[in-house]
Amino acid sequence: MKVFVTRMIPQDGLRLLKEMFEVEIFEHDRPITKKELLEQARGSDGLLCLLTDKIDEEIIDVLGIKAIANYAVGVDNIDIKAATERKIPVTNTPGVLTEATADLTFALILAVSRRIVEADKYVRDGNFKGWEPMELLGGDFSGKTLGIIGLGRIGQAVARRAKGFGMNIIYHSQSPKEDIESELNAIKVTFEDLILSSDYITIHCPYTPETHHMIGIEEFRKMKSSAYLINTARGKVIDETSLLLALEEKLIAGIGLDVYYNEPEINSKIFGYSNVVVLPHIGSASIETRTKMSLMAAKDLIAALAGKKPPNLVNAEVFD
Ligand code: NAP
Repeated sequence: MKVFVTRMIPQDGLRLLKEMFEVEIFEHDRPITKKELLEQARGSDGLLCLLTDKIDEEIIDVLGIKAIANYAVGVDNIDIKAATERKIPVTNTPGVLTEATADLTFALILAVSRRIVEADKYVRDGNFKGWEPMELLGGDFSGKTLGIIGLGRIGQAVARRAKGFGMNIIYHSQSPKEDIESELNAIKVTFEDLILSSDYITIHCPYTPETHHMIGIEEFRKMKSSAYLINTARGKVIDETSLLLALEEKLIAGIGLDVYYNEPEINSKIFGYSNVVVLPHIGSASIETRTKMSLMAAKDLIAALAGKKPPNLVNAEVFD
């Protein structure tokens, strides 16, 4: 059997795949184009792809693949419906990236609120002449309210960190999480209450038709003008036009972004605001985490191509 891997990933997972299959890797230092994928992966049995690869119905049909392993937990880059209709198992990498992504989220919360990036630039530009009573003042954490949208694996890991910072935690999620509310000191509120009363809002839901533009201008207008918004989930959960308007009208104090509306393109207007911290989608980017992701994706692909139910199956209906 043949497996196509759309980009170089850590060797551990590749080694496993090579023990079982003929493995072809797109080794260029950029995402594969649709044309290249259609040409080079045709006839492969398995596909190991990244969140930067849009796997649509046409690709699924032309390649004739039997299983897809996504090297990410979010699967909004894959037409799951088309894969399920063709009985193609799709897997993802949940859990192994939770702590790294929660760490990165907290790094963004700290960076935006305590103006770390601005302060670094301030020093490098030669402006530091000594301790200042009124320079680069930011926000506190202790006693402040953190609103978590989507209290899943990453949302909960962020809540655990916030608890250590003495923050009050409120959340909005699809289903109640009563079993962990007391451990996390978290209170379930309506989406509107979360928007109205949070000092920090952090997004951890998946990107779906329901979460598309969940944060728009109405939400920005309801937020405290002193609030900070962090997005390490997916760009399109926030309406970008509203985000730019909110910055222009100073509707909130700052924004931290790891993900963007039209990745990898970023609306350059965002760069004009010093109260925005921008990262290049590095939520899971630690050596250990990426290694675990490569192993998980490889093991899932091996199971799926052996006709077994892979441990991290997204479309359970395929094995019904
Ligand atoms: P997860 O465990 O499935 O958690 C997602 C949570 O969102 C669940 O609690 C779910 O509620 C909730 N949710 C779903 N739809 C919602 C809605 N309409 N309104 C409110 N809450 C909703 O997923 P995870 O592992 O934490 O990952 C979350 C997302 O983070 C991924 O989908 C991915 O897009 C993103 N991510 C980004 C990076 C990065 O590099 N920046 C890295 C990893 C993941 P229920 O529990 O009730 O279903």
